[in-house]
Amino acid sequence: MSADPSRVLVVGGGIGGLTAAIALRQGGHSVELVEIREDWAVTGWGLSLTGPALRALDTLGLADRLIDLGYGITTIANCDSDGNLIAEVELPGLLGPGRPAQAGIARSELTRVLRDSAASHGAVLRTALTVAQTVENGTSVTAVLSDGTTRDVDLVVVADGAGSKTRELLGIDVTPAYTGQMVWRAVVPRPAWADRLFTFFGPGDNAGLIPISAAYAYCFLTENLPTPDVLPDDELADRMRERLRPFGGRVAEVRESIRKPEDVVRRAVNTVLAELPWNAGRVVLVGDAAHTPSPQLVSGAALAVEDAVVLAEELARTPDVLEALDAFGRRRHDRAALVVEASRRVARLEQAGQQTEVPGLLGRTHGALAAAI
Ligand SMILES: Cc1cc2nc3c(=O)[nH]c(=O)nc-3n(C[C@H](O)[C@H](O)[C@H](O)COP(=O)(O)OP(=O)(O)OC[C@H]3O[C@@H](n4cnc5c(N)ncnc54)[C@H](O)[C@@H]3O)c2cc1C
Repeated sequence: MSADPSRVLVVGGGIGGLTAAIALRQGGHSVELVEIREDWAVTGWGLSLTGPALRALDTLGLADRLIDLGYGITTIANCDSDGNLIAEVELPGLLGPGRPAQAGIARSELTRVLRDSAASHGAVLRTALTVAQTVENGTSVTAVLSDGTTRDVDLVVVADGAGSKTRELLGIDVTPAYTGQMVWRAVVPRPAWADRLFTFFGPGDNAGLIPISAAYAYCFLTENLPTPDVLPDDELADRMRERLRPFGGRVAEVRESIRKPEDVVRRAVNTVLAELPWNAGRVVLVGDAAHTPSPQLVSGAALAVEDAVVLAEELARTPDVLEALDAFGRRRHDRAALVVEASRRVARLEQAGQQTEVPGLLGRTHGALAAAI
């Protein structure tokens, strides 16, 4: 049985922070969220919500809305570089009959829905603000914010992403590890045949296409590169088309629609896995700040939403916040480690030219993630 509702400060307004705000408000806690950016603009195009992500979003009452806004997916088509089908895999549905196993969605749509939901549940959302310091007081924690104001709260939830600075403030020592890969994403008009998730195994790089709405899909490409670099923004579309040149068939068709540099993002892939404890006193890590898998597992958002749900459940179970945080970390660590470690193995296989082993590893990992959280 939980005690009186707690006062919670959430740091970071991404998927993890916003879903934590929703879950904690639904649990009756008061929530203020601070986001360091000046506005809510999102970078990146599309995102796949896997079965576990949809299942966790369903407990927040949001899955159907997001599926409607996105594009429901039930099948993965694994193809060679010319688009010839190697194997088709039916994805296990975790939401029950009549609902898709996964959904592709534009990131901007996803975060807009999460933000609206958090605000309509009564969370206070503030931008251009971060936490500068936290001081434990025994029965509460004082957070000093970047505008000089302070908050005396029962819990601080740190959801400031893979490059978390707040994690450093807590003395939780994790250095993001570069996997030796860069990922590319480009939003493209959805071809009529793109009614499922396509992956294309190229001679060096892997590519794929994921529908995110009736009108759009995103094309992804994984590039092996020992040392990460940064390309000029205005060259991104040309460079991505160039890297997709070894592919034929369907990729060649999609490639030609990548024309505007602003439709393309390219990122170095870093992974993070913080060892337990994930909390320092009443300050706890969630989402990418605690565990960042590489995008090939398409599960970072799923883990972040699950964290939010589990944190609210553990706070509902006991009036002792520290006990709840300990239970939260123990319930989440091994599942997050499974994903992060599998994603590191995928990166190694791809770099060793053993791409054909990747679908099996992905299938086994997604199978394990179907287990209840
Ligand atoms: C290219 C790419 C593709 C991906 N594709 C998928 C996919 O298809 N499916 C999937 O499940 N996952 C995917 N992921 C992973 C997914 O995006 C992340 O796991 C997820 O966004 C984590 O959410 P988060 O809220 O923990 O962190 P973030 O999304 O990084 O959000 C952190 C937020 O905190 C803010 N912030 C940062 N520092 C501070 C501070 N000091 N104070 C206050 N606010 C701060 C940031 O501005 C941001 O809004 C992908 C990742 C990448 C890089």
